[in-house]
Amino acid sequence: MKLLNERDRRIYREELAPRLPARIFDAHVHVFDRDFFPPGFTFPPRTCYHKFGGAFPLPLWREAMKELLPEQEVWLNCFSTPRREIDRDRMPEVKGPREFVMALVSPADPVEKVKQRIESARAVGVKPYLNYAAELYGKKSGEVEIFDMLTPEQLAYLDEKALAVTLHIPRAGRFADPLNQRQMRELCEKYPHIKFIFAHIGRAYFMRNIRESNLEEFVQYPNAFFDTAMVNSAEILKYLCDRFPAERILFGTDTPIALLRGKSVEINDQYAYLMGENYAVGTSIIDTEGAVEFTFFFYEQLRGLLAGVPEGDLEKVLFTNAHQLFTGIRAQ
Ligand SMILES: [Zn+2]
Repeated sequence: MKLLNERDRRIYREELAPRLPARIFDAHVHVFDRDFFPPGFTFPPRTCYHKFGGAFPLPLWREAMKELLPEQEVWLNCFSTPRREIDRDRMPEVKGPREFVMALVSPADPVEKVKQRIESARAVGVKPYLNYAAELYGKKSGEVEIFDMLTPEQLAYLDEKALAVTLHIPRAGRFADPLNQRQMRELCEKYPHIKFIFAHIGRAYFMRNIRESNLEEFVQYPNAFFDTAMVNSAEILKYLCDRFPAERILFGTDTPIALLRGKSVEINDQYAYLMGENYAVGTSIIDTEGAVEFTFFFYEQLRGLLAGVPEGDLEKVLFTNAHQLFTGIRAQ
């Protein structure tokens, strides 16, 4: 694929390779083929998925990992991309012991359907998304609440099977939002067998957001996990590790977005994606002039982890925790 330039290779050689464990588990990857979508579907202009021709199939992920982490054995947990137009019954065809898959789920899906999806793919859990709830209940995406995203029947089934949920929390206040916090805790309490993986550390991409998250209150729930997808900030990762058990922090990247060149930065109690390529991801500031040379978000995330996670916890966060969690679910 030839993704790396000389500068990237130097980052890997000098900063990453000497400190990364031999095995890495990426718990948050989006994998989908073009035919998961109806014929004629195309992503809107400047969507990052155009970078790989509007699809990101597993063979492409495997190839990309060989380039970015040539000395590591890379495992993954993946799900397709939660868009309205995608066929949720189509799932990445994971192979062997190192690849895991989750099913997309909408609150519109009857529990029988969810069960069928999970069993047919041997999925380890589900990935709901707020747009599905917004569509079903006719809400604006900003008004969707966590409890809109999964139905009580779906939650009861997931709890009975002790599966995982990767949850991208809604609402503008993200992790600092008191209603989100309350509903996140309620989920953990009411469904003690579900492993709740709050994606992107509750979308707390800037310090003020995690400072107002009441993070300490989540320590008591053994089924509360965080994935680090797209968090570039060493400061946020350190804050998390200082207050939450390292055993329940999972490395995730949000690949293929993470294969773009850019860096997420905190600006005045907000954050923005500085983009080194002409794609827009959320709040983006695109370096159209080529003012600086960027590397991949993927490498920036690893840099953040290496700087923010205590040395003794690195292997847990980068591999062991996800390995235990997902192989445990698959074995049961
Ligand atoms: Zn994602």
